[in-house]
Amino acid sequence: MKLSRRQLFLGSASALALSASGYKLLRGFEDESSQKILQSLPTGLRGTGIDVHVHILGSGAGGTGCWMNDDFRRSIQARAGLWNLRLSVDQPDLDARYVDYLLARMRGAGFLKQVVALAMDYVYSSRGERDAARTHFFTPNDYVAHLAAAHPEFLFGASIHPYRVDALDELDRVAAQGAVLVKWIPNVHGMDLADPRCRAFYRRLAEHKIALLVHSGDEQAMAIAGQEFGDPRRLAAPLDAGVTVIAAHVASLGSRDGRTNFEHLLEMFPRWPNLFADTSALTLFTRWRVLRRVAEHTEIHSRLVHGSDFPLPPAASLFLGRISFGDWCRAWLRENPFRRDFLLKQASGLPGEIYHRGYEVLAPRLH
Ligand SMILES: [Zn+2]
Repeated sequence: MKLSRRQLFLGSASALALSASGYKLLRGFEDESSQKILQSLPTGLRGTGIDVHVHILGSGAGGTGCWMNDDFRRSIQARAGLWNLRLSVDQPDLDARYVDYLLARMRGAGFLKQVVALAMDYVYSSRGERDAARTHFFTPNDYVAHLAAAHPEFLFGASIHPYRVDALDELDRVAAQGAVLVKWIPNVHGMDLADPRCRAFYRRLAEHKIALLVHSGDEQAMAIAGQEFGDPRRLAAPLDAGVTVIAAHVASLGSRDGRTNFEHLLEMFPRWPNLFADTSALTLFTRWRVLRRVAEHTEIHSRLVHGSDFPLPPAASLFLGRISFGDWCRAWLRENPFRRDFLLKQASGLPGEIYHRGYEVLAPRLH
């Protein structure tokens, strides 16, 4: 077969576009100047927002106390995820460079003032024994408290498994260190929110006015102890105890008893004024379909809090044809994951007020 010049030209042009988008699918181009980004934002959103869901992780380099189990360290998920941040799981200064990357990108995103940096506790058995083999990664409270003390951009998000024998002491300790919330992933940590053992923990959270950021709905990124633990209806226990609860990801994955977890969660907002939901991970390839539904349910917008779930990468490519081409290009072209996530959410119809609501929800713990 002989190719015409036109065919040859089109062929090489598509090959070039494909390889560029292949690269782009995985990682973007450097961001524009911060001045240009600031000018593109509505005045009320310039450097004033808060992201309540940002993970801190590391390998323990530099004595941070962070830890990853070997399976997770070798996984494509961890390697690709870190490559996406221009990092490598084997580099000796991983922990410090991770924080550098995070700080540079959140500052460069334009709309953010602060992020809640999250610790991550170990998995514990129902007998209260630490289970490192089933823990993907551990990020100590002390390390994150130290980061929050060193950088005004970080607020301290603690993580404490409620089955620990020292759970209440640890809660008092992180409260004294300035924790603004406690993070749980019940499906992964293997905790049942309705377990009577959690009651004292809820009472103490309410006393300290510390919010609970809880993964809600199914979980697909990490090893699972039980998807039933992600049932949003289980949030009733901390809510009844007067704890401010932020249901992470708006329960955007999975179904239970013939209805989606998202539908179960929607029904709960009128009953509990202390219930909120974060928008984290809604631009990921697993959850992006729910983003449009969240935008349509305007009755819950006053309960939404912005979260990104950094370092998980927003899947800008999937939004092609679903938002305006101009918006899509702006989100797709640039690397900064905070900005990408923000642009996709704005273009999908989430209201601008969610970027400040985290400050209202966490106000009792902010000075
Ligand atoms: Zn998360």
